[in-house]
Amino acid sequence: MLTPPEIRQALLATGESQQELFAEARRLRDEHFGPQVVLRGVVEITNVCRVNCEYCPMRKDNTRENDRFFMSSEAILSCVNSIREAGIDIILLQGGETPRSLVAVKEAIPAIRELYDGKVEILLNLGNFSRQQYEELRELGATSYILKHETSDPELHMRLRHESLDERLRCMKDLLALGYKVGTGLISGLPDQSLDSIVDDVLLAGDLGVHMCSVSPFVPAPNTPMSVLPAAPVGMALNIMAVLRICYPHLLIPSVSALEKNEEGGQSSGLGAGANVLTVNFTNEADRDRYLIYGSKRYVVGLQHVKDIVHRAGLSTRGSVFI
Ligand code: SF4
Repeated sequence: MLTPPEIRQALLATGESQQELFAEARRLRDEHFGPQVVLRGVVEITNVCRVNCEYCPMRKDNTRENDRFFMSSEAILSCVNSIREAGIDIILLQGGETPRSLVAVKEAIPAIRELYDGKVEILLNLGNFSRQQYEELRELGATSYILKHETSDPELHMRLRHESLDERLRCMKDLLALGYKVGTGLISGLPDQSLDSIVDDVLLAGDLGVHMCSVSPFVPAPNTPMSVLPAAPVGMALNIMAVLRICYPHLLIPSVSALEKNEEGGQSSGLGAGANVLTVNFTNEADRDRYLIYGSKRYVVGLQHVKDIVHRAGLSTRGSVFI
């Protein structure tokens, strides 16, 4: 484990010291997981959200102008079939935060378990809910949950998400107490985000005792109040990922599509900085274009792209570590 001053220094690494940081992160990944990348398949189930994040085109204020969709459980199952055919055993159901999405999800979870004969990880990324709602999903067969803290600076969190960090942390603690494998995550390169607050982001992942942590460089998306800001440099995001790997070698750290969106080859660089998860998009083509996470021009990760970058990195793919 690095001390806070060491974390701070590592986050600023460039040139040769950055390459040494990445090499150590890769060494620790390979030592703990083998030279392997965990593959997930994602289905994006709705673009409707009750939250109003300043950086997201699916924010509440855009609901009226967006072409809204909610997937039925049958439509979810059809996408899940394609994931199964691709040999992937982690189903990530992701969407905006709205209680309405839970109806289809609750129907889909037992059907997914049946399809896989129980040998499946069902990973949800659906936002804040009550402990009781998380418990119901867990009892139905959900395995794991992603709920990113985004920034550990409470004031910045409130300003950008209009939501309290404390409530987010309450949800994460409920999920952990219910036996979920939990993933958090942060955005790097936000306006007014200090280096010290990124050190706090790294420390928070350890304090919470989560199992996964992602780092997304800020993407200035169209139709948002932050659309005119510059995109975050990928280098800082890579440094944070490498620091997370060195501090917590057991973490699942994805190489996210925002890396590729901000810089061609960004996801390969993520694997080079110690990441060990890639997510392939299996959303229907029609709904995929309406899922505006970074606007309509996001980078959609396909199976061939993933196979290519894994091969180029000298790694191989594997299934869930939680089954
Ligand atoms: S980032 Fe997530 S929680 Fe925030 S508005 Fe977009 S979909 Fe909703």
